Amino acid sequence: MIKNICDDSLCTACGACENSCNFQAIIRTKRKDDSWYMQIDDTKCKNCNRCLKVCPNNHVPSLYSPQKAYAAWSTDKEIHKNSASGGIATELYNYAVDKKMYFAGVSMDKNLEAHFELVNNKNSIEKFQNSKYTFSYMDDIYLKCKELLKKDEKILFVGLPCQIAALRNYIGENENLILIDLACHGTPSPEFLKQHVKTIEKKKNKIADNVSFRNARFNTNNFYFTLTHKNRIFYKKNSLSEDNYQIGYHKAFIYRDCCYQCRYAQRKRTGDLTIADYHGLGKVSVYNGNKESVSCVLVNSEKGKTLLNKLFENEQIEVIERPLLEPLQNEPQFNYPSKSSQEHDEFINLYQKKENFDLVANVVFKQDKFKGWVLGTTNVVNYKNKFMALLPWELKQYVKKMLRRK
Ligand SMILES: Cc1cc2nc3c(=O)[nH]c(=O)nc-3n(C[C@H](O)[C@H](O)[C@H](O)COP(=O)(O)OP(=O)(O)OC[C@H]3O[C@@H](n4cnc5c(N)ncnc54)[C@H](O)[C@@H]3O)c2cc1C
Repeated sequence: MIKNICDDSLCTACGACENSCNFQAIIRTKRKDDSWYMQIDDTKCKNCNRCLKVCPNNHVPSLYSPQKAYAAWSTDKEIHKNSASGGIATELYNYAVDKKMYFAGVSMDKNLEAHFELVNNKNSIEKFQNSKYTFSYMDDIYLKCKELLKKDEKILFVGLPCQIAALRNYIGENENLILIDLACHGTPSPEFLKQHVKTIEKKKNKIADNVSFRNARFNTNNFYFTLTHKNRIFYKKNSLSEDNYQIGYHKAFIYRDCCYQCRYAQRKRTGDLTIADYHGLGKVSVYNGNKESVSCVLVNSEKGKTLLNKLFENEQIEVIERPLLEPLQNEPQFNYPSKSSQEHDEFINLYQKKENFDLVANVVFKQDKFKGWVLGTTNVVNYKNKFMALLPWELKQYVKKMLRRK
């Protein structure tokens, strides 16, 4: 017999239950979109209930109310340029290396899957940099964290809010564990990205050795989705009208069921710090600085406050305090989960029949692609962005500074 751990539509597949079971009794059950939820195989279960206790859907850990908000970015131009927003995650990793701490981050593997790794060397930082807009596998990271903490090692962990909640349940309170949650609008089944890339590879007759969701060569703000083979880009799309994965992801058509009901898309946070793209900068009080490539950092606990101070004292980051309400009001993910839509339902139902991401996306996203194309060809800002994306980063910063001065 098979038993549920939590409401299956809420299961985020964080894997805390798998890591807590000593009897290999946790199984993965497929959803319509080829993602999965966790269940218990009763024939192997010894009723220890560990999996039930650790599940962040059954036990939401106590959440932090943010105390302060900052606009922040790395003082290192290369880090700033190559990161999704202000490069705060990378600066946190640099701090961890300096303090001989372990740190966890996500990198893409050869199978186009995003996996967590726990490391303590500088060489790994680069592959963690920038956002991978797909499901990330926690694998056995919980066990690894527990083992290191037992040895009194210190760990800095950056992850999505549901993953941080699961880790907190699994480990319990621990002075040596610093947790950073990212704002998150959702993650799709990992199968969609794999299929999409395979379709392009087949068309272009090339194999991708790198996939980027916000390629830094064209400014991460422009959200260029690129595929690269031996350092040469063979696929590059930025407009929401052009790429099926970009449309599906950024319009929230392709997330897993659990993401539309996310209980962590709210103002109270799971991490000691929260980092996000700064949305709404200058909307609540005057701000005259650069608004692009700026991270929002929420300080949620004393541990978080001390850590952010250290980065500032080390001159790793620039920080400007902002009214707390500014990011809280303007970042949708600090207020409610992404909304499901008719397109989502149509997409999932057709995908269940066809099992082909692009074939289904071509049908369901047809109108959105056309609308995006019309907007793209008639929008002057779009041309300006495309032109700016071609400029080297330093020159672009200079042009922006000049424009601001006028
Ligand atoms: C799936 C996802 C959804 C997001 N949604 C939003 C949003 O709706 N609004 C918003 O303001 N910001 C969102 N972000 C955060 C944003 O993309 C930036 O990560 C954030 O601004 C921090 O930027 P940075 O320059 O400091 O770090 P980055 O250069 O983005 O550093 C990357 C960090 O993100 C981690 N990471 C990358 N991909 C994943 C993944 N798939 N799962 C877990 N961790 C990952 C890396 O390990 C590293 O710690 C999202 C990020 C992800 C990964």
